[in-house]
Amino acid sequence: MSDKVVTRFAPSPTGFLHIGGARTALFNWLYAKHTGGKMLLRIEDTDRERSTDAATAAILDGLSWLGLTWDGEPVSQFERAPRHRAVAEELVRLGKAYYCYATPAELEVMRESARAKGLPPRYDGRWRDRDPSEAAVGAKGAIRIKAPADGETVVHDRVQGEVRFPNKDLDDFIILRSDGNPTYMHAVVVDDHDMGITHIIRGDDHLTNAARQMVIYRAMGWDVPSMSHIPLIHGADGAKLSKRHGALGVEAYRAMGYLPEALLNYLARLGWSHGDDEIMSIAEMIAWFDTGDVNKGAARFDFAKLEALNGVHMRRMNDAELLDIFINTLPYLESGPAIAARLDDTRKAQLLAALPGLKERAKTLVELVDGAAFLFAERPLPIDEKAAALLGGEGREILRGAHAALKAISGDWTAAAAEAAIREYALAGGHKLGAVAQPLRAALIGKSTSPGVFDVLAVLGREESLARIADQID
Ligand code: GLU
Repeated sequence: MSDKVVTRFAPSPTGFLHIGGARTALFNWLYAKHTGGKMLLRIEDTDRERSTDAATAAILDGLSWLGLTWDGEPVSQFERAPRHRAVAEELVRLGKAYYCYATPAELEVMRESARAKGLPPRYDGRWRDRDPSEAAVGAKGAIRIKAPADGETVVHDRVQGEVRFPNKDLDDFIILRSDGNPTYMHAVVVDDHDMGITHIIRGDDHLTNAARQMVIYRAMGWDVPSMSHIPLIHGADGAKLSKRHGALGVEAYRAMGYLPEALLNYLARLGWSHGDDEIMSIAEMIAWFDTGDVNKGAARFDFAKLEALNGVHMRRMNDAELLDIFINTLPYLESGPAIAARLDDTRKAQLLAALPGLKERAKTLVELVDGAAFLFAERPLPIDEKAAALLGGEGREILRGAHAALKAISGDWTAAAAEAAIREYALAGGHKLGAVAQPLRAALIGKSTSPGVFDVLAVLGREESLARIADQID
């Protein structure tokens, strides 16, 4: 056996890839990349009632969007049920597990009497030493593992430290139901072993399962993988993460206009840190990540931080790359498809030229769409209320003069040439520069705010600029 690191992400396909799941996937992926190992993907679809193909597809799509690639084909846990059954039966042969024929009614009585004594419901081991021949004819038994009765089970967790579980709290739990189906607890252990998983990284809601799962590893004589149980994500107010806090599927974050890289950066910093570094590229996260540095305390999800971080990533990114992401994301943004439909080569070139100005003012791709909308507007432009006010009264007269000044530009149509012409006109007419720029902006984009008006003129080009202005003075 090689000592290559093998991690896995093991989602249950009962809904979208939510933000907590994405972070678990990210930590597994980062650790695998950091160590030169692999990350495998296992779809935990044993719960046939709640698992759907649509959810599996949404999870794969979410991971792909984030760039969290897995090695090999995804493994279906459900398809491995025969193997889970075989291991359970082997444990019976080894004397480490046994058939239990307790009826539902008997189990209910057991639970009731435990409750009456204020104890957690525990199986009392009544079939542990009984001979299966004592079972009613035709009764189908469930297989229970023989859990150790005394001492303690210690989970050596890379995040939580040594976590001790008194064995008296681990009863003989079921590994194979009487209908022949494995329990989740058992399936996970058999799969992790067979898939050669060396490192388990998952939410700390699975920490108590880890103790039970160790009982199965020990019974089979298998090595227990390294364990890292990472704290769950809470809302900014410290309460458990709900929809209101951001417990959404990752596709909702795509629709809100976040960049995958920024979301990954944000998720990585939820519960993990590397010195004071806040802004990290993917390569830096890979270089720096270690599960040993994950905090024990719950992390708090904060939309404002995510948004600010997204803005930073947008500004840092080179424009061609940002344009690519922008174009690929358009189908998922509310007003994106309308823009995508009109994105010809000319407009792409205009967009690229406008990006440096636009990205200074946008924290998300949604805001970028808003900012870029002027490029895609059809003449005559719809003019919003504030812009209309700027075009009233003296504004229109000033605009008429500005039109003439711009029209007189004889050399190249550039931001600098436009600025020189407008400054000269303002000076000559005794207008403040703003008094000219404002109606100009209103005519060019139909709104009162935009990137620098001279950049807008340059990006739109001579013909379109003059035509938009003329529309407002005739
Ligand atoms: N399927 C489990 C979940 O989605 C994960 C189990 C595990 O990682 O061991 O919570």
